[in-house]
Amino acid sequence: MKNNGPTALAQVGIFPVGELYSLQTPSMDATTYIANIPNHLLPIDPDSLQPSSESPFDGLYYGGIDTPTTRQAARQIALLEKGNYAVLTPSGQSALHLLLLAMTKSGDHVLVGDSVIYTTRWLLEYFGGRGVEVEYFAPHEANRIGGRLRDNTRLVLWETLGSFTYELIDSATIIEACTHHPALVVIDNTWSASTFSFPLENKADICVLSLSKSHAAVEGVSLGALVTRQPSVFKVLKQIAALTGCHVSSHSCAAVLRSISTLGARLETQQRSVVLIMKYLKAQPQVIRLLHPLAQQSESELQNKSIKGCNSLITVKFSYAGQTLMKKLGRLRIIKIGHGWGGTVSLVTPVCLDSNPSAARMDVTGTCLRVYIGLEDPGDIISDLQNAFFDASPF
Ligand SMILES: *Cc1c(COP(=O)(O)O)cnc(C)c1O
Repeated sequence: MKNNGPTALAQVGIFPVGELYSLQTPSMDATTYIANIPNHLLPIDPDSLQPSSESPFDGLYYGGIDTPTTRQAARQIALLEKGNYAVLTPSGQSALHLLLLAMTKSGDHVLVGDSVIYTTRWLLEYFGGRGVEVEYFAPHEANRIGGRLRDNTRLVLWETLGSFTYELIDSATIIEACTHHPALVVIDNTWSASTFSFPLENKADICVLSLSKSHAAVEGVSLGALVTRQPSVFKVLKQIAALTGCHVSSHSCAAVLRSISTLGARLETQQRSVVLIMKYLKAQPQVIRLLHPLAQQSESELQNKSIKGCNSLITVKFSYAGQTLMKKLGRLRIIKIGHGWGGTVSLVTPVCLDSNPSAARMDVTGTCLRVYIGLEDPGDIISDLQNAFFDASPF
């Protein structure tokens, strides 16, 4: 029987212990391993970085690089993302850093979807300063990507749905255009929470994940991953991770699996809540725009693009001027004001979309609120929004 979706998520923590299994992945911190027999001590070389079997205990030689816990977490995250191999990194940002470090050098060219999150742009600027040429493309240029690939193009990178605007990119068209070019096709699939879309199934070479959001924000853990189906890609990424000391802690890996085991139930609840809350917001005349994949297209249009559901992030543009908006924001009681998303608590973050090309295309500018719906009762969240933003009481 093939475990899929919520079943795979619920059982992600099962860990082999001798002939039995534990329901929780233990956090085994170790830096030194010892062998009973001299020739069982593996040499430290690139070959020994490759997992030799499915057992998380096989082939370990230095705990900074891997422990049974980190091996198991990498294997489980690769499976959830429908890949074969994962390299875990201390954050989503460090996953992108490892990708660029391992796969590009000065003089190379990378093509990037212009709806990527601003922190990815900052990282690309840093690599730009070190000789990598970064060129952006808009989603409507997907069918012309073929003409922008050069001999020195190493990566084509975009996000499944753009950060803050949830603008859709026709991934299949870009992947098709890259088929006969050696550039690696890389999708930052964080938004999908290993649930809503699986680009590796559709021939992407690498998926980037920030596990610090839907996957593990409930545990407060920072972790990232690069997932692939290709042994050759994994080999390079794992080698550069080891070379640069890009290791992850067993504690974080055990925590990430613990929180993923409730991810299916969390997403289910949040999907129901966000639909109710959007319906309420849409009916308010002071809401000028509501950005969410389902506000921009129908469910079947999304499914045609291999997107099988949505998380609970929405971006709202109100008719209020900046100062009024901020005053009203201060009246929220249940929804908290903060950065980050994916935890149990609903959050609102003011975001200025003036320099966001995706927002400009959608004709949204100025300060908006990015709202993340957590696990509270949707009725309570709606009352909180009502009190803060829509009650007639004057200031
Ligand atoms: C948050 C985020 C990142 C960065 O991940 P961290 O784990 O916070 O470093 C990268 N890409 C996307 C789409 C994100 O939402």
